[in-house]
This record gives sequence, structure tokens and C-alpha cells, in this order.
Amino acid sequence: MRVALFGGTFDPVHCGHLAIARAAAERFSLGRVYFVPADIPPHKSKQQLTDFQHRFAMLALATAEDKRFVPSLLDAPTGRPNYSIDTVRRLKSQLKKSDQLFYLIGMDAFKDISTWHQVEQLLAECEFIVASRPGFSLAEIGRVLPDKLRPKHEVVKAMAKQQPSGTISLPGATIHLLSDVEERVSSTQVRRAAKRPVTQLARYVPRMVAEYIKKQRLYANAAPANTTETGKTARVLSFAAGRHKKARSH
Ligand code: ATP
Repeated sequence: MRVALFGGTFDPVHCGHLAIARAAAERFSLGRVYFVPADIPPHKSKQQLTDFQHRFAMLALATAEDKRFVPSLLDAPTGRPNYSIDTVRRLKSQLKKSDQLFYLIGMDAFKDISTWHQVEQLLAECEFIVASRPGFSLAEIGRVLPDKLRPKHEVVKAMAKQQPSGTISLPGATIHLLSDVEERVSSTQVRRAAKRPVTQLARYVPRMVAEYIKKQRLYANAAPANTTETGKTARVLSFAAGRHKKARSH
């Protein structure tokens, strides 16, 4: 079976996460996508994060209806930062020999890949699926790879241009580009809009997640949208509403 590990903070999980998981599952015929919330992501401060238990509960609600999607406790609290190399190896040890593991990630996160712990080993452990995200170009892939792996920039640029949804095969890394995701939503925006009515919140998180946020009074102290951001949030809401209607009409 083809399997993907999808790591993140998921604070909270939103429609963008689900969209890239769905797109990857379709394109790569994935039988399972493991959503793995990190208790302590190495790049973020734990103090700023919502309790792991809440983030996991929201993931469980958001993934319940798709049988390919599995909320995972691989990075449950241990008191130590969660490094992806360890998570990948832990998951691999639980899979069958015949399973193939992919690491699913958005381009905004992948652009910092060369700063990750044991990055060369990580890239060698499994193939990567890098999804597009508005504001982050997949054509930058060549520039963001660790120095040791980086082929001549022009070569990668040409490859990325030729095959917007193609595969880049390098000694030591295989990277598939998933260019069909165009979701503008982010967890930051959801946190900022958490005080809005459930009907509005449910435009960019699944309805059950919106209900959970309200019931548990999550993100009550999130930086509120200020005057400038109100316009931005409103644009995101109307964008999300358009997508929502479109999605429901299929
Ligand atoms: P925050 O706003 O708190 O920084 P986020 O929306 O980026 O959060 P994360 O949980 O940090 O969400 O992201 C987990 C993974 O999902 C990362 O690989 C990230 O690149 C990817 N991702 C998140 N949102 C999107 C999106 N809208 N489109 C494509 N990829 C996304």
C-alpha cells in the first residue's frame, strides 16, 4: 500500500490541510494518509501552541469521514521536540515491507527544509510530495534544497517549468510536485477568526471542528483581526465561501 505521513502543528486543522491530503491521495493512489500533529515542533515555540489533546481531537473530527485519513499519535507528548526523521523511522517500523512511504508537505514548509534535523537522511528515507501553496512557488525547489543535493539551479528550474506536476529525481532525493492545490486558508487566519459565528468559521474548517473550537473556547486570546486585517480576513472568508459553495455543488 502507498502511505503518506503528513506532519504539522494543525492548530487547528483546516480545509487547506484536507485539500492537499485529498489531492495527494488521488494523484498518488494513497491508501492511508497519517495526519501527525507534533507536540513540540522544532521550529515553533510550545508556549504559543494549543494543547496537543485539543489539536488531536480536532484532527480526529476532521478526518472521520475519509477512510484513507488517519489521525496519528506518533508525535504524542514525550517532553522532547519532534524531529521528522524520528517520526518517519517510527512509522516505517510499523509498516509492512511492501508499503511505500511518502512525506507530504506544503511548499511554505519545504522552503526551510535545509534547516531540518538530519535533512539528507530524511530525504533519503522516503519520497517527498511537495504541494503548492498560494504565495510559495514550486519553481523555487532547486534553490531550497540542501547544498549537498542541490543540482544546478537552471536544471531544476527547467524541470519544474516543464513539469508543473512532475517528479524531480536526484541522487539522494525524489520529490514529486503537486501543483493543483490553491487553498489560501491558514491556521493563523482560523485562530484570528475564532470569535466569529460557527457558520462563518465553518467556511474554512470542517463544521465539527468549528463547533469544537466554540465549545472549548479555543483561541479566545488569539490576536484579533485589527482594522487592516479585518479586510484581509473578509477577503479570505469570501474566497473560502466561494470554494465552499463550489465544493458542495459537485
Ligand atoms: P500556521 O498558520 O499556524 O503557521 P499552517 O496553516 O501553515 O499554520 P501547519 O499545521 O503549520 O498549518 O501546516 C502543516 C502542513 O500543511 C505544512 O506542510 C504546510 O505547508 C501545509 N499546509 C498548511 N496549509 C496549507 C495550504 N493552505 N496549502 C498547502 N499546504 C498547506
